[in-house]
Amino acid sequence: MAYVIGSPCLDVKERSCVDVCPVDCIYEGARKMYIHPAECIDCGACEAVCPVEAIHLDVEVPEPETAHIAANAAFFAGLGPLGGARSADLTDRDCLPEPA
Ligand code: SF4
Ligand code: SF4
Repeated sequence: MAYVIGSPCLDVKERSCVDVCPVDCIYEGARKMYIHPAECIDCGACEAVCPVEAIHLDVEVPEPETAHIAANAAFFAGLGPLGGARSADLTDRDCLPEPA
């Protein structure tokens, strides 16, 4: 399992989740944030602080948002180990389900 960020984060990105993540696995994309599914330790800290309720455990993502589970994983496809969000600039990328 892993936590997933959905559409309420689009063009919001106010970063409360980034500040509380103990493993620095929440990466900033061009229009929203993305949680690295292999780095997330499922602590739930980010879900508790998101002011727009954009973050859910993958098995609890609301039905209209389930396409974000694959999209979050696809965002990181082919990038290899990143070493934490503070050392990787991915702000020129996005992977959004259609329609965005
Ligand atoms: S706390 Fe919520 S809205 Fe803010 S960046 Fe994280 S997921 Fe996006
Ligand atoms: S569940 Fe914990 S480890 Fe995973 S992204 Fe949220 S704060 Fe980071």
